[in-house]
Amino acid sequence: MQAFPFNNQYLTLGETFFRKTRPSPVSNPALIRFNDALADEMGLPMQDFNADDIAAVFSGNVVPDGAEPLAMAYSGHQFGHFSPQLGDGRAILLGEISGAGGASMGLQLKGSGRTHYSRNGDGRAALGPVLREYLVSEAMYRLGVPTTRALAAVTTGEEVARERLVPGGIITRVASSFVRVGTFEYFASRGDVQSIQMLADHVIAQNYPQALEEEDPYAALLQAVTDGQASLIARWMQLGFIHGVMNTDNMSVAGETIDYGPCAFMDAYDHDQVFSSIDHQGRYAYSNQPAIGLWNLTRLAECLVPLIDENIDAAVECAQDILQSYRSSHEDDWLSGMCAKCGLSHVSDEVKSQDKALIEDLLDMMAANHADYTLTFFNLSQLSAQPSDKDRVCTDLFGDQAQFDQWLSRWRERLARETCSDEQRQANMQSINPVYIPRNHQIEAAIRAAEDHDDFSVFHELHEVLESPYVQQAGKDRYMQPPEPDEVVECTFCGT
Ligand code: AMP
Ligand code: MG
Repeated sequence: MQAFPFNNQYLTLGETFFRKTRPSPVSNPALIRFNDALADEMGLPMQDFNADDIAAVFSGNVVPDGAEPLAMAYSGHQFGHFSPQLGDGRAILLGEISGAGGASMGLQLKGSGRTHYSRNGDGRAALGPVLREYLVSEAMYRLGVPTTRALAAVTTGEEVARERLVPGGIITRVASSFVRVGTFEYFASRGDVQSIQMLADHVIAQNYPQALEEEDPYAALLQAVTDGQASLIARWMQLGFIHGVMNTDNMSVAGETIDYGPCAFMDAYDHDQVFSSIDHQGRYAYSNQPAIGLWNLTRLAECLVPLIDENIDAAVECAQDILQSYRSSHEDDWLSGMCAKCGLSHVSDEVKSQDKALIEDLLDMMAANHADYTLTFFNLSQLSAQPSDKDRVCTDLFGDQAQFDQWLSRWRERLARETCSDEQRQANMQSINPVYIPRNHQIEAAIRAAEDHDDFSVFHELHEVLESPYVQQAGKDRYMQPPEPDEVVECTFCGT
């Protein structure tokens, strides 16, 4: 078999950054799904591998040549409280590969056994969360949101103890970096400025080489991460995505969505929706995500201050200016995305503030009427600039139809300022308002079929629908629908 083209850069940082750790073998690995397209993109030589070979590698039973597996050290603020010693407790980085254009792609097994950082954990993952992460991360990618990718999922043939015994699984994820805000915090909390600098240099080299052209590369790094996060969270908000556990150890410095745990897409719009049953205070509620993004970035800024300027006051001022830019950058990203969802292109500052009011009124009305977020925008994308019978598809989602009709009239008045044709506007709207999102009750159905009946067909069909989220597919209408009352999933933290 040909070797994987590993080019392991993280390893060169030295053993204060990680512990070398081999995956613990599992008894009976079986492949659930392999992402051939991603493997191709990574240049993985899979032609000689059959399904058993793939399962052997992506369960950790066979470590491919050139892999130098390790568990990364990190700390993190969890629900606002600092934990100095977290780290990869159930994840192992096999190695990194230089993808197309030299971009780094790290390859990590999750659920592959205990590591130095496992504390009391078993180092394993349950099948349910593996399937959830596979579905949601790949759907995010297809929706156009920066994210870690899923390369492979396997069952282990072993059970893991959660609230009860459940089947075990392992997911292989791919990221342009597995460095988290918490990785910087690990060294900052130990007063190890030299390691912070090595880590910053590593992140710049791998993810932000353009920062090297700036007068202060470390300030440029903070700015780049800040801009990336502002834009990433705007994308989440535009799609109704709730991450669920935005602890600093679950925020990638590469601007990718990472660590899919108790995450979910909203069905009915609710500004304050919380999905994770362990988030009692609503810290990571939908509407709180932009503010939490800034809170986490502030923790990163604190770590980078010693690198930005020898004069600490000057460094703090510089970092504060960068953090200041987050709010307006996020707001701009959010508003332009929401306007696009409504078919509005920016015309002037005056119209911009009216557009914002128009969008906020729509969201308020959706909340008051429990209207489905995704369906509302999808249906709006089908409407013409002139009232027609089609309006009903949208109006029907709102109990207070007269109020919604009034909003439609305002929207149409605003559309009159647009210059593109009605068809073009509809096409533009349909290209960003998804038909399908990974709805929580459908993910749950896929997990139940797999866990309870060893039937992965529900998972595969859902995955296939989500490969083209912006294209309405014949016979797949049920994937567009929100849950019936008895299908609503109340708890998403079960057994991560
Ligand atoms: P998470 O909630 O997945 O972001 O994990 C928070 C921390 O707990 C990380 O350091 C994980 O590696 C660790 N962790 C979570 N689950 C396990 C497990 N089953 N075994 C060992 N460590 C775990
Ligand atoms: Mg995590």
